[in-house]
Amino acid sequence: MNELVIATRNRGKLKEIQALLDGVVGTVRCAADFPEFPETVEDGATFRENALKKAREAMLFTGLAALADDSGLVVDVLDGRPGVYSARFAGEGAGDSANNRRLLEELVEFPAAQRQAAFVCVLAFVTPAGDEQVFTGRVGGVILTEERGADGFGYDPLFLVDGFDRTMAELSLREKNSISHRGQALRGFRAFLGACRT
Ligand code: IMP
Repeated sequence: MNELVIATRNRGKLKEIQALLDGVVGTVRCAADFPEFPETVEDGATFRENALKKAREAMLFTGLAALADDSGLVVDVLDGRPGVYSARFAGEGAGDSANNRRLLEELVEFPAAQRQAAFVCVLAFVTPAGDEQVFTGRVGGVILTEERGADGFGYDPLFLVDGFDRTMAELSLREKNSISHRGQALRGFRAFLGACRT
Protein backbone atom coordinates (compact mmCIF):
# COMPACT_ATOMS: atom_id res chain seq x y z
CA MET A 1 0.00 0.00 0.00
CA ASN A 2 1.47 3.35 -1.10
CA GLU A 3 -0.29 5.92 1.03
CA LEU A 4 -2.62 5.87 3.99
CA VAL A 5 -4.06 8.44 6.38
CA ILE A 6 -4.49 7.59 10.04
CA ALA A 7 -7.55 9.42 11.30
CA THR A 8 -6.36 10.42 14.74
CA ARG A 9 -4.93 13.35 16.67
CA ASN A 10 -4.13 11.12 19.66
CA ARG A 11 -0.32 11.05 19.79
CA GLY A 12 -0.24 7.86 21.88
CA LYS A 13 -2.32 5.93 19.38
CA LEU A 14 -0.41 7.39 16.45
CA LYS A 15 2.96 6.30 17.81
CA GLU A 16 1.77 2.73 18.35
CA ILE A 17 0.09 2.51 14.93
CA GLN A 18 3.06 4.01 13.08
CA ALA A 19 5.46 1.55 14.75
CA LEU A 20 3.49 -1.41 13.43
CA LEU A 21 2.97 0.00 9.92
CA ASP A 22 6.63 0.86 9.42
CA GLY A 23 7.83 -0.86 6.24
CA VAL A 24 4.32 -2.06 5.39
CA VAL A 25 2.83 1.19 4.10
CA GLY A 26 4.83 3.64 1.93
CA THR A 27 3.67 7.03 3.24
CA VAL A 28 1.73 7.20 6.47
CA ARG A 29 -0.09 10.51 6.97
CA CYS A 30 -2.08 11.62 9.96
CA ALA A 31 -4.78 14.15 10.83
CA ALA A 32 -2.21 16.80 11.75
CA ASP A 33 -0.82 16.73 8.17
CA PHE A 34 -4.07 18.19 6.83
CA PRO A 35 -5.26 21.69 7.75
CA GLU A 36 -8.89 21.63 8.83
CA PHE A 37 -9.01 17.86 9.11
CA PRO A 38 -12.59 17.13 10.24
CA GLU A 39 -13.33 16.43 13.92
CA THR A 40 -15.69 13.47 13.72
CA VAL A 41 -18.58 13.54 16.17
CA GLU A 42 -18.22 10.21 17.97
CA ASP A 43 -21.88 9.52 18.64
CA GLY A 44 -21.91 5.80 17.84
CA ALA A 45 -23.08 3.27 20.42
CA THR A 46 -20.17 0.95 19.65
CA PHE A 47 -16.43 1.14 18.95
CA ARG A 48 -17.17 -0.28 15.49
CA GLU A 49 -19.65 2.46 14.57
CA ASN A 50 -17.29 5.21 15.71
CA ALA A 51 -14.26 3.69 13.98
CA LEU A 52 -16.12 3.35 10.68
CA LYS A 53 -17.48 6.88 10.95
CA LYS A 54 -14.00 8.34 11.56
CA ALA A 55 -12.44 6.33 8.71
CA ARG A 56 -15.18 7.26 6.22
CA GLU A 57 -14.92 10.97 7.02
CA ALA A 58 -11.11 10.89 6.77
CA MET A 59 -11.25 9.06 3.43
CA LEU A 60 -13.79 11.53 2.01
CA PHE A 61 -11.81 14.55 3.24
CA THR A 62 -8.37 13.42 2.04
CA GLY A 63 -9.25 11.18 -0.92
CA LEU A 64 -6.86 8.61 0.58
CA ALA A 65 -7.41 5.18 2.05
CA ALA A 66 -8.03 5.79 5.77
CA LEU A 67 -7.45 3.84 8.96
CA ALA A 68 -9.27 4.86 12.16
CA ASP A 69 -8.97 3.49 15.69
CA ASP A 70 -11.80 3.60 18.18
CA SER A 71 -10.81 2.07 21.45
CA GLY A 72 -11.34 2.21 25.15
CA LEU A 73 -11.49 0.60 28.53
CA VAL A 74 -14.30 -1.76 29.49
CA VAL A 75 -14.66 -2.42 33.24
CA ASP A 76 -16.71 -5.43 34.37
CA VAL A 77 -18.21 -4.00 37.59
CA LEU A 78 -19.06 -0.76 35.78
CA ASP A 79 -21.14 -2.73 33.25
CA GLY A 80 -18.65 -2.01 30.49
CA ARG A 81 -18.11 1.68 31.21
CA PRO A 82 -16.33 3.90 30.31
CA GLY A 83 -16.39 2.04 26.94
CA VAL A 84 -16.97 4.42 24.03
CA TYR A 85 -16.80 7.31 26.53
CA SER A 86 -13.25 6.43 27.66
CA ALA A 87 -11.69 9.62 26.27
CA ARG A 88 -14.28 11.82 28.04
CA PHE A 89 -15.03 9.78 31.19
CA ALA A 90 -14.43 12.82 33.42
CA GLY A 91 -16.27 15.14 31.03
CA GLU A 92 -15.90 16.67 27.57
CA GLY A 93 -12.28 17.71 26.94
CA ALA A 94 -10.99 15.87 30.03
CA GLY A 95 -7.35 14.77 29.97
CA ASP A 96 -5.83 11.43 30.95
CA SER A 97 -5.20 12.40 34.61
CA ALA A 98 -8.80 13.50 35.19
CA ASN A 99 -10.12 10.34 33.52
CA ASN A 100 -7.83 8.16 35.62
CA ARG A 101 -8.96 9.92 38.80
CA ARG A 102 -12.58 9.38 37.86
CA LEU A 103 -11.90 5.68 37.26
CA LEU A 104 -10.27 5.32 40.69
CA GLU A 105 -13.19 7.11 42.34
CA GLU A 106 -15.76 4.85 40.69
CA LEU A 107 -13.85 1.72 41.76
CA VAL A 108 -12.93 2.84 45.27
CA GLU A 109 -15.17 0.28 47.00
CA PHE A 110 -14.12 -2.68 44.91
CA PRO A 111 -11.35 -5.07 46.00
CA ALA A 112 -8.71 -6.32 43.55
CA ALA A 113 -10.71 -9.47 42.74
CA GLN A 114 -13.53 -7.34 41.35
CA ARG A 115 -11.46 -4.92 39.30
CA GLN A 116 -11.22 -6.91 36.05
CA ALA A 117 -11.25 -4.89 32.86
CA ALA A 118 -10.23 -5.05 29.22
CA PHE A 119 -8.87 -2.70 26.61
CA VAL A 120 -10.73 -3.03 23.32
CA CYS A 121 -9.65 -1.69 19.93
CA VAL A 122 -11.55 -1.57 16.67
CA LEU A 123 -9.67 -0.45 13.57
CA ALA A 124 -11.68 0.51 10.50
CA PHE A 125 -10.07 0.66 7.07
CA VAL A 126 -11.95 2.43 4.27
CA THR A 127 -10.75 2.98 0.71
CA PRO A 128 -11.86 5.53 -1.93
CA ALA A 129 -13.14 2.53 -3.98
CA GLY A 130 -15.62 1.85 -1.16
CA ASP A 131 -14.00 -1.21 0.44
CA GLU A 132 -14.48 -1.38 4.22
CA GLN A 133 -12.73 -3.72 6.64
CA VAL A 134 -12.79 -3.92 10.42
CA PHE A 135 -10.13 -5.45 12.71
CA THR A 136 -10.44 -5.94 16.46
CA GLY A 137 -8.29 -6.67 19.49
CA ARG A 138 -8.84 -7.13 23.22
CA VAL A 139 -6.54 -7.57 26.21
CA GLY A 140 -7.56 -8.31 29.79
CA GLY A 141 -6.23 -6.88 33.02
CA VAL A 142 -6.98 -5.51 36.48
CA ILE A 143 -7.36 -1.87 37.52
CA LEU A 144 -4.87 -0.94 40.27
CA THR A 145 -5.55 1.53 43.08
CA GLU A 146 -2.69 3.84 42.06
CA GLU A 147 -0.76 4.66 38.90
CA ARG A 148 2.44 2.79 38.00
CA GLY A 149 4.78 3.51 35.08
CA ALA A 150 5.45 6.44 32.78
CA ASP A 151 5.10 5.06 29.26
CA GLY A 152 2.02 4.71 27.07
CA PHE A 153 -1.01 6.97 27.49
CA GLY A 154 -4.57 7.08 28.80
CA TYR A 155 -5.41 4.44 31.40
CA ASP A 156 -2.12 2.54 30.87
CA PRO A 157 -0.65 3.36 34.34
CA LEU A 158 -3.70 1.85 36.08
CA PHE A 159 -3.98 -1.28 33.93
CA LEU A 160 -2.12 -4.35 35.24
CA VAL A 161 -1.89 -6.65 32.23
CA ASP A 162 -3.11 -10.25 32.71
CA GLY A 163 -0.14 -12.61 32.87
CA PHE A 164 2.35 -9.80 33.63
CA ASP A 165 3.33 -8.16 36.89
CA ARG A 166 3.56 -4.85 35.06
CA THR A 167 1.11 -2.19 33.99
CA MET A 168 0.76 -1.16 30.35
CA ALA A 169 2.71 1.98 31.27
CA GLU A 170 5.61 -0.19 32.49
CA LEU A 171 5.95 -1.91 29.10
CA SER A 172 8.11 -0.59 26.26
CA LEU A 173 6.37 0.43 23.04
CA ARG A 174 7.48 -2.83 21.46
CA GLU A 175 6.23 -4.93 24.39
CA LYS A 176 2.91 -3.11 24.51
CA ASN A 177 2.36 -3.54 20.77
CA SER A 178 3.16 -7.26 21.02
CA ILE A 179 0.23 -7.93 23.38
CA SER A 180 -2.13 -4.95 23.28
CA HIS A 181 -5.63 -4.63 21.86
CA ARG A 182 -4.26 -2.18 19.26
CA GLY A 183 -1.33 -4.45 18.38
CA GLN A 184 -3.71 -7.37 17.80
CA ALA A 185 -5.99 -5.30 15.55
CA LEU A 186 -2.99 -3.92 13.64
CA ARG A 187 -1.63 -7.40 13.01
CA GLY A 188 -5.04 -8.28 11.55
CA PHE A 189 -4.76 -5.24 9.28
CA ARG A 190 -1.21 -6.14 8.24
CA ALA A 191 -2.27 -9.71 7.39
CA PHE A 192 -5.11 -8.29 5.31
CA LEU A 193 -2.71 -6.03 3.38
CA GLY A 194 -0.36 -8.98 2.85
CA ALA A 195 -3.22 -11.13 1.54
CA CYS A 196 -4.25 -8.33 -0.87
CA ARG A 197 -0.77 -8.37 -2.42
CA THR A 198 -0.79 -12.12 -3.16
P1 IMP B 1 -11.17 7.38 21.24
O1 IMP B 1 -10.21 8.38 20.73
O2 IMP B 1 -12.59 7.82 21.26
O3 IMP B 1 -10.99 6.04 20.56
O4 IMP B 1 -10.83 7.17 22.78
C1 IMP B 1 -9.83 6.35 23.19
C2 IMP B 1 -9.62 6.49 24.70
O5 IMP B 1 -9.60 5.20 25.28
C3 IMP B 1 -8.28 7.12 25.01
O6 IMP B 1 -8.37 8.52 25.14
C4 IMP B 1 -7.91 6.44 26.31
O7 IMP B 1 -8.55 7.09 27.37
C5 IMP B 1 -8.51 5.05 26.15
N1 IMP B 1 -7.55 4.12 25.52
C6 IMP B 1 -7.62 3.55 24.29
N2 IMP B 1 -6.55 2.78 24.05
C7 IMP B 1 -5.76 2.91 25.13
C8 IMP B 1 -4.49 2.37 25.44
O8 IMP B 1 -3.83 1.67 24.65
N3 IMP B 1 -4.00 2.71 26.65
C9 IMP B 1 -4.67 3.50 27.53
N4 IMP B 1 -5.85 4.05 27.28
C10 IMP B 1 -6.41 3.75 26.07
